[in-house]
Amino acid sequence: MTKYIGPSNPTVKRCAHCRRWLKASAFRPNPRLRSGLNSWCRECAAERTRQWRAENPAYVGRVNVARRVKQRSKRCAVCGDDFVPTQRKDQECCSTECTRQLKARRERARRAASSRNKSKTHRRIKEVRP
Ligand SMILES: [Zn+2]
Ligand SMILES: [Zn+2]
Repeated sequence: MTKYIGPSNPTVKRCAHCRRWLKASAFRPNPRLRSGLNSWCRECAAERTRQWRAENPAYVGRVNVARRVKQRSKRCAVCGDDFVPTQRKDQECCSTECTRQLKARRERARRAASSRNKSKTHRRIKEVRP
């Protein structure tokens, strides 16, 4: 005689994929579902995730990059784009082009500042002279 186990027994659940009756603990909890458990057992869900990852390597890579960007992204000092510093921790720009622009900008600012100082010094010398 086989004992009937079905929906009336709350401790078991049938996997929608492999059709096995399994203990509730064999399913991952899913609060979004009315049953509170995933419709696929852990084994089937893991298998599906593995397969899906193998079939979508590009998407998985993008998701991982997006996660990394969220964690460690900085704003480019030149173009304002978010980027992940890869070369150095103190990297301020998203690309070598932006780094070049930032350097040029700083060089211009430095020259402007030094030429202002020079003209001040010059004036002072003039004033001191009789
Ligand atoms: Zn299953
Ligand atoms: Zn940039």
